[in-house]
Amino acid sequence: MDRVTPVSPSAAMFAEVPETRRRIMRAIRSTDTRPERTLRAKLHALGYRFRKNVAGLPGKPDVAFSRKRKAIFVHGCFWHSHARCKNALRPRTRSDYWKQKLDNTIERDRRNLAKLQEIGWQTFVVWECQLAADGELQRQLTGFLGNPREEE
Ligand SMILES: [Zn+2]
Repeated sequence: MDRVTPVSPSAAMFAEVPETRRRIMRAIRSTDTRPERTLRAKLHALGYRFRKNVAGLPGKPDVAFSRKRKAIFVHGCFWHSHARCKNALRPRTRSDYWKQKLDNTIERDRRNLAKLQEIGWQTFVVWECQLAADGELQRQLTGFLGNPREEE
């Protein structure tokens, strides 16, 4: 018998879905902070300096460049419903529950990006699955951020 230890808020959520699904969800969830570390490592390697998880900004961006007023979010494909992504397929069981939960996240993300833009920040979302496509992501990041030597 596999006992689930409630170590995070998401544990309560897992209790509502079958064990097989729970295992999959946990596996996805447990990798959730790794994409942020991967992105930060890439940015450092490119020579950028930045702040992370800036609490005073809408949505608490994973990476923030105060002088440039640019913010980057790393979104897990499942939890943030990456459009047309194979990692974002929604569970078939309790579909109403998941629809509401994931749609709420989509709406919250949208509001946070809009709020940041309203206060003069530019935003960029990196999807978890994009972290694997190294060259393309690097090109997009440097395009968005400009010269690394100009930052604080
Ligand atoms: Zn994706």
